[in-house]
Amino acid sequence: MHRSCSIFQAELLAIGEACRMILAMKHELAYILTDSKSSLMELSNPASCNSLVNKIFKHLRVAEVMKVKIVFVWLRAHVGIRGNEDADCAAKQAASSKTSLAYDKFPISYVKQHFKTTSTEDKINLYNNENNCKYTKQISPYHEQLELVMRAFPPDFHLTQFYSGHGYHKVYLKRFGITADDECPCDANISQTMEHLIRVCPRFSSTRMDHEIANRMVGISEPYDFQKIIKKETTINTFSEHIKYIIRNLKQYNQT
Ligand SMILES: [Zn+2]
Repeated sequence: MHRSCSIFQAELLAIGEACRMILAMKHELAYILTDSKSSLMELSNPASCNSLVNKIFKHLRVAEVMKVKIVFVWLRAHVGIRGNEDADCAAKQAASSKTSLAYDKFPISYVKQHFKTTSTEDKINLYNNENNCKYTKQISPYHEQLELVMRAFPPDFHLTQFYSGHGYHKVYLKRFGITADDECPCDANISQTMEHLIRVCPRFSSTRMDHEIANRMVGISEPYDFQKIIKKETTINTFSEHIKYIIRNLKQYNQT
């Protein structure tokens, strides 16, 4: 089988082959002993959409016409039943043989995993392109680092404003024509960027101080180096609290 096929597919293919051989040999009564519970469960579902199961159903209809009785029996695996051990051995040999493939239809789970992997690669390439995501790169220049930061600070209503630079701060509001200026109430000469709010604005000095003290206590000298602050639980907490406090109070502070 193709390497992308699942064990479930292998088991069903084998049961189908066993049916085909029973019909060819024209036995009146045959038992198929299998340790695959999942296959037997799928075979007990007459509405199954699985193509291998439908092939088995076709064999069973032919068997009925030919008055051949096929009985399925479940048996426990790896308890020393000789036929079962022989089948395991044959499966291992087949897995390393170089014969042509008997079956190569990959399962839907393989396709999903394949696209998940390729879309992650696309996302990383898009981020690492120098023309994209300029604001977020101030937090983390590389996508791999950003993933670590986002694991420590999972995006929510507050943190997404920090990650994206989109939200309640006045530089953003002015850009979209919601306010006439981008001045911070603390100083008319200062543009109210997310960076200003996080690092400088006196309105938010109390949570900023909590965060900076927490960093000093664990020996981190740069409290806005995200690769460093994500390593300690206390600094993760104080930074999250700082961001939440800013976003919660910003509309009122700006009177927007
Ligand atoms: Zn300010």
